[in-house]
Amino acid sequence: MSRRKLIIAIDGPAGAGKSSAAKSLAGKLGYLTLDSGSLYRAIAWSVIQGKVDHTRPLEVESTCEKLRIKLCLEGESTEVWVDEVNVTSHLRLPEVTEVSSTISAYPGIRHQLLSIQRAIGNQGGVVIEGRDIGTVVFPEAEMKFYLDASVRVRALRRYHDLRLKGVETDIETTTKNIEDRDAKDRQREFAPLRRGEDAVVIDSTRLKLDEVIDRMYCVVMELIARREKIETPSGEHSPGV
Ligand code: C5P
Repeated sequence: MSRRKLIIAIDGPAGAGKSSAAKSLAGKLGYLTLDSGSLYRAIAWSVIQGKVDHTRPLEVESTCEKLRIKLCLEGESTEVWVDEVNVTSHLRLPEVTEVSSTISAYPGIRHQLLSIQRAIGNQGGVVIEGRDIGTVVFPEAEMKFYLDASVRVRALRRYHDLRLKGVETDIETTTKNIEDRDAKDRQREFAPLRRGEDAVVIDSTRLKLDEVIDRMYCVVMELIARREKIETPSGEHSPGV
């Protein structure tokens, strides 16, 4: 018999709205959310703190081996601890964003983060967002989305988010950062960002967040209904999601 609660993967490029979508969808389903990018960002933060040269994969990998990364998933939020420090509020700093984009291409780093992600998601009842969740981390996930949007719209959203957080930037710089990060994520050799053939594609260029969530929720509920039908062919009652 299959797991009762689902693993839901949301992959896509930077700024497509994956985090907000994952949080809202998880909230509606009573699931946990895992923002897998926060793991790469936690390592980036540690690398910066330790003044490690982030362009040297072996140095970054050996730094990462010594770290104890802990995630506390509570409702919609993911609190990230590195050793005894809660680093959550530092993870969105531009420098951390840039370094995380570079170190995420290192195979040793991706390998070390696989087990953390799998330990969290294995039981199901979780919405996990990232770049390789449906293709590499949980290829067996029952529900996979690929959330996309035009570069222009993604850059505008990111620009507004950064401004709200008090980060001084302009739209050109934000666009360039997004394009650079996309290129690195798509071109890397290990676990590149790609649209899985079994993923439901949602282009959010012209959609509001609520519309994205509604679409996702409908697709998930259809899947749940189909699973219940298969598992209880006699029409017996089967418990929730
Ligand atoms: O999603 P977010 O922008 O927070 O991720 C930070 C960086 O981590 C991304 O630029 C991407 O390179 C990397 N990442 C990844 N695989 C994931 C999640 C994030 O390579 N599953």
